[in-house]
Amino acid sequence: MKSFKCHQCTHPINFDNSICGGCGSPLGFLSQRKTVSTLVQREDGWEVPAYPQGRYRYCRNHHHNTCNWLVPANSSRALCKACELNRTVPNPEHPEQVKIWKHLETAKHRLVYELLCLRLPLQSKTGNPKTGLAFDFLPYHVSNFTQQGALAAYSQGVITVDLAEAESVLREKNRDIIGESAGTLIGSFRHEIGHYYWEIIVQSETELLEEFRELFGDERADYSQAIQHYYETGPPQDWRDRFLSVYGAAHPWEDWAETWAHYLHMTDSLETAHACGVRVKTNMDVAGINDINRRKGRPDLYPFVLPPPALEKLRFIHQLIRRR
Ligand SMILES: [Zn+2]
Ligand SMILES: [Zn+2]
Ligand SMILES: [Zn+2]
Repeated sequence: MKSFKCHQCTHPINFDNSICGGCGSPLGFLSQRKTVSTLVQREDGWEVPAYPQGRYRYCRNHHHNTCNWLVPANSSRALCKACELNRTVPNPEHPEQVKIWKHLETAKHRLVYELLCLRLPLQSKTGNPKTGLAFDFLPYHVSNFTQQGALAAYSQGVITVDLAEAESVLREKNRDIIGESAGTLIGSFRHEIGHYYWEIIVQSETELLEEFRELFGDERADYSQAIQHYYETGPPQDWRDRFLSVYGAAHPWEDWAETWAHYLHMTDSLETAHACGVRVKTNMDVAGINDINRRKGRPDLYPFVLPPPALEKLRFIHQLIRRR
């Protein structure tokens, strides 16, 4: 993620801020420019000082304090690019649900930002029922997931999120059972969106699918049986030599989704480090960054040791994204 500054007072501002902490100016995110900007009120809408020719209004979800993205003032759309992906949202009358929804939206907006930066296709299911994407944020235990302790699940273009599990993930649990990416909201979203891109990019291209099978294995292996087997017997002894994360050992689809999530994790971390002026040149520098965290008693910033097959899988994803 890039770093942003208030145009009015140069105070650093965060991606999800609606008000500048330095001068109190209103802020909004302009998805076309991928930037957070200070806003100036004009008669016909908000003006973004760097691009004074356009006028904007906030996305409708700004009312609920779950979104700070802007929509062109003359657009017929009420929702921004990130919020139009929502199909079911929590009841805004329930303050507890809205509180969790806000955390989920912060992570989801961040994910959408990453996808826009990588120029990956992103369409809502409302506009494109066949290949579009939708999010269902479901209240406590309506989601009925098969995977124990899962925050989110993917099926046919829909990412379903269980608010109860989201709350528990906010309290950090289960990381060691359900894989690294499931330990955080953004990690879960990066994983689930990986399943979506497998479907709309890899599945339909014979050559890609063959290459995928060579690296990740044959995804036609019975999925429910594989998952059940994984939970009953645990991962194979040598999983560290073959997979990036333990959950990748469950099924080729999960290996792909974990690798995809890790790719987004890496690109975002590198962009953030670059924006903050951090330069990582050697493995020693990475060890140094981990050491800073250890001294605070925190887990390593980059705890992964990637075996050669996992690197090949990451390279496959990198090339696939670059080609597009
Ligand atoms: Zn300011
Ligand atoms: Zn929005
Ligand atoms: Zn998965």
